Amino acid sequence: MDYSMLVNKQNPLDSSFEPQELVVYPEYNGPKIDPNHKTLVEATTLNAFYEMQAAAMKEQGYHIIVDSAYRSYAYQQKVLERNLAEKGESAYSFVALPGTSEHQSGLAIDVALYIDGEYTDQFDDTFPQIQWLFNNAHRFGFILRYPKGAEHITGYKYECWHFRYVGKEIALDMYDNNIRTFEEYHTLLKRK
Ligand SMILES: [Zn+2]
Repeated sequence: MDYSMLVNKQNPLDSSFEPQELVVYPEYNGPKIDPNHKTLVEATTLNAFYEMQAAAMKEQGYHIIVDSAYRSYAYQQKVLERNLAEKGESAYSFVALPGTSEHQSGLAIDVALYIDGEYTDQFDDTFPQIQWLFNNAHRFGFILRYPKGAEHITGYKYECWHFRYVGKEIALDMYDNNIRTFEEYHTLLKRK
């Protein structure tokens, strides 16, 4: 598995791409539309998440969970088709084309929180749990993938909940050199 892979609108994944090893995430992550829905995460990514989750709990008492992770090409296709049927061509402006969603890589995690034992996905970046992730995710190999003010670079609007596993080496390198987007990191790599 290539943890440095860049997935975006210019670099889509093939329809046949699937992560090598997907693992079921067992923790309850809120009411899903489909009760049979299983949250799947790439194996190494999930282990790194568990490490981060344990640290957040131990250091601050924050309970951070995986809300959504792997989504297949076929799933993204279905979402697009449903929205095209309901809303017409405008669906292209708010639904990612199949292959361009980083969630197909299995390396992307949308987080949610337990606050006072209750699941919530209603939070913003002023929440201390999210601030903790901004300041600490790199220690565990994660980056905030769609930072504020970088929409013109990433092609996606700011998402304070979407983290991407890139491995500790890259995440630390980006943090130490204040490189905010994975696109910029890849451009720098090509120059080396
Ligand atoms: Zn996401």
